[in-house]
Amino acid sequence: MRIGLQAYPRFLELAYQLSRRLLLPFSRWMVPGGWIEKIFVVLEKGAKGAIFDCRMCGDCVLHSTGMTCPMTCPKNMRNGPCGGVRQNGNCEIIPEMKCVWMQAWDRSKVMRVYGDDFLGILPPRKGQLQDGSAWINDFTGIAVQDPASWLE
Ligand code: SF4
Repeated sequence: MRIGLQAYPRFLELAYQLSRRLLLPFSRWMVPGGWIEKIFVVLEKGAKGAIFDCRMCGDCVLHSTGMTCPMTCPKNMRNGPCGGVRQNGNCEIIPEMKCVWMQAWDRSKVMRVYGDDFLGILPPRKGQLQDGSAWINDFTGIAVQDPASWLE
């Protein structure tokens, strides 16, 4: 069940900043694969699932997408809408649903700190991070590392 906090992106942005600050001193213990990650996964599934309909991609970009999860787009578009947005701003796959990217744009405009991140280009999602903790992947830097295959 989704709760309606996405209507308050500025509040969510502040909550994100606060969470980051609170977690930073503990980042050395935040490593993938251990029991700490299991706890984070449960917490993220519960909290981000309820607020953002999080799909646990493990490579979270919420603050760059108007606190709107791009993985809820039926096409999993990560860098903006597809060419099929309807005249009323709804999705071509699910006609009764507003396009995720239309919502992301509206929400990013009221975000004072990360709003402009919307204009950047996001790297491809790393599929191997699926179902892991996005916080841990963020703090360890795994989420922003180039895939090994790119370096060969
Ligand atoms: S971007 Fe990924 S981690 Fe973030 S809310 Fe969406 S599915 Fe969850």
